[in-house]
Amino acid sequence: MQKLIVGNWKMNGLSADLVEAEAVAAGLGDAAVRVGICPPATLVERMSRTLAGTLVAVGGQDCRAEASGAFTGDVSAEMLADAGATLVILGHSERRAGFGETDALVAAKVEAALRAGLEPIVCVGETLAEREAGRAIAVVTGQVRRSLPAALAGRPFAVAYEPVWAIGTGLTPTTDQIAEIHAAIRAELVAVLGDAGARAPILYGGSVKPANAAEILAAAEVGGALVGGASLKASDFLGIIAGA
Ligand code: PEP
Repeated sequence: MQKLIVGNWKMNGLSADLVEAEAVAAGLGDAAVRVGICPPATLVERMSRTLAGTLVAVGGQDCRAEASGAFTGDVSAEMLADAGATLVILGHSERRAGFGETDALVAAKVEAALRAGLEPIVCVGETLAEREAGRAIAVVTGQVRRSLPAALAGRPFAVAYEPVWAIGTGLTPTTDQIAEIHAAIRAELVAVLGDAGARAPILYGGSVKPANAAEILAAAEVGGALVGGASLKASDFLGIIAGA
């Protein structure tokens, strides 16, 4: 199956940085992978225009569950789609930890993404304390079970396994540890969604860089990567894509 490689720019990027997205599109060639970039909300529309007609999709990093209303500062799934996004990252650990997002809220946001025709990328992952307590599989499969509504069956979506302790730290799990969690996620997806759960790509995220991408992407059940810091520079991101 085609790998999916998605860049998460987080709260980085001004209009001058759109050249990096253009360079990614220009450098892709006929790469047999799907590629997306999720810039801050302020750049979604301009990046969508800049990348129109290329192989690079654009996505949001979060959305509100409601379509519109008195929610100062928030952006809805419909607004992201209207700005040209086709993807949206949901349940990122920085939102779960920093904004108290629960699995139930993430599931509501997934429903919103589907309503707006966006492909959700739903993030799950354990903290270091949870891993050291031997609870990584239980935590991650619980997040999968509670964050993924039944409405996902038959719709395009992805799950991203992002161990919290590996995000932005330079630390990565071993390929055996990645394969173990991805296998547990796959089993949970099938239990929850049946056939639809057997097909959805499971991305790995957490300190992916050009030097480790090929090994991580070759691990069993790794269907792609969600990339933070190394997606900000086209040369690094293309190096990761080349490892797919
Ligand atoms: C992320 O935040 O989704 C992420 C994977 O970050 P990094 O690649 O910088 O660890």
